[in-house]
Amino acid sequence: MLKLAHYINGHLVAPLSGQYLDNVDPSTGQVYSLVPDGDARDVDAAVDAAEKAFPGWSKTPAEARSAHLMKIADGIERRLEELARAECVDNGKPLAMARSLDIPRAVKNFRFFATAILHARSETHVTDGLALNYTLRQPRGICGLISPWNLPLYLLSWKIAPAIATGNTAVAKPSEVTPMTAYMLSEICIEAGLPPGVLNVVHGLGAKVGAAITAHPKITTVSFTGGTVTGREVARTAAPMFKKIALELGGKNPNIVFADADMDKAVSESVRAAFANQGQICLCGSRVFVERQAYDTFVDRFVAVAGKLRLGDPLEAGVDQGAIVSKAQFDKVNYYANLAREEGGKILIGGAPAPAVNERCRGGYFFPPTVITGLGPQCRVNQEEIFGPVVSIIPFYDEAEVIGYANDTAYGLSATLWTQNLQRAHRVAERVNSGTVWVNCWLLRDLRVPFGGMKQSGVGREGGDEALRFFTEPKNVCVAI
Ligand code: NAD
Repeated sequence: MLKLAHYINGHLVAPLSGQYLDNVDPSTGQVYSLVPDGDARDVDAAVDAAEKAFPGWSKTPAEARSAHLMKIADGIERRLEELARAECVDNGKPLAMARSLDIPRAVKNFRFFATAILHARSETHVTDGLALNYTLRQPRGICGLISPWNLPLYLLSWKIAPAIATGNTAVAKPSEVTPMTAYMLSEICIEAGLPPGVLNVVHGLGAKVGAAITAHPKITTVSFTGGTVTGREVARTAAPMFKKIALELGGKNPNIVFADADMDKAVSESVRAAFANQGQICLCGSRVFVERQAYDTFVDRFVAVAGKLRLGDPLEAGVDQGAIVSKAQFDKVNYYANLAREEGGKILIGGAPAPAVNERCRGGYFFPPTVITGLGPQCRVNQEEIFGPVVSIIPFYDEAEVIGYANDTAYGLSATLWTQNLQRAHRVAERVNSGTVWVNCWLLRDLRVPFGGMKQSGVGREGGDEALRFFTEPKNVCVAI
């Protein structure tokens, strides 16, 4: 069986413990490869390599760093089909989605930051004829980059690219649930001739490898994407060590449909926002609020469209919904479907594990799109992040009421509004407490804009200039004139 390896100091290496974890294909429930059960010793080795690489890499001209990132992007693009299949098997998402969204976005992430550093500006401030201040933005050193399983290569590369583009070296940790594409990225970096130690990838459990990265005294900067509970743990360790941290955490995103919306678009995009990637995107709209006079029609149409989504073997063409990523996540989704019933909700479609989609996938973790009505905004199903194909639809009467509902959770990652009233769109967007507000669209991403959450959805921002700032230290030089 294929044994994955860490990528340390330019080489693929076995874990020092000699131990491996099972890597399960969620569409079959079968172990199909082994992932290193890394620990603090592997992290130490990766940090040593990153430390040795830092003086050379941080002094490498931006143009040369940019060329290295471009080569990595080309390498990913060359192996796009292979990576998409690997991601599909590792994660359970439809192959078509990995092919059209996840892997192309990883290519874009590297190209975006490879070119961004060629256009970076520096700031100067003149102090009334007394002095000239200029800001040097210097790399911060060794960065710890920790990512989740839902968009494995996409999210890991969203951290790696800006970290190394700005002259840092890095120790990255993919989720142990979906390690395959990070392993393949390691191979691509070797093929692309990235100098040893610039990027290191250590596999293993969060409580061992993730915790060791967060606590390592030589890691100055931690960029973490994952659940809010884990984020709190990361902050608890990193904050007293005065590390710079960015936390991209959970969401319970409102999707608000006013009666004047373009209903065809509102329905089809709300279904996509609810169920894309089996509802396992942090930006999914899992609480749909619909203005009362449009509510009944919207619910009927939403259920009709969602009911047509084809659940099936993720490797098959034409499949919209694949497998849930793991048994643990599958159990969690099932738990919340049952909780919805206990809380008095009405399940319109779904609500229980799906029968086997074919012979190959007999042991897989399949859960159908689930639509619930009749639950108030305060119940647990509408307050807690489920991170699966479960959506609740709730009526509202006026703007103030729905803004109250939208803001009344611990989270604040993203929100979506559907209305043709321009003034209302701007007014509501301004009052909803989310890091991103989409108006008449969903998941339309421009890599230049700040990305991140408010409240318990995180601290710090990724994307564009925000990422370039995060991974650099601004030093002011004041020269008397
Ligand atoms: P998770 O928090 O369980 O794990 C995320 C990563 O942290 C994994 O690599 C894991 O191994 C590691 N980890 C676990 N314990 C750790 C510890 N004590 N110290 C350091 N690292 C540790 O999250 P998950 O289940 O992999 O992902 C789902 C969550 O991620 C959801 O809550 C989702 O909303 C969130 N997410 C957020 C964004 C965003 O941009 N805000 C994007 C994608 C996913």
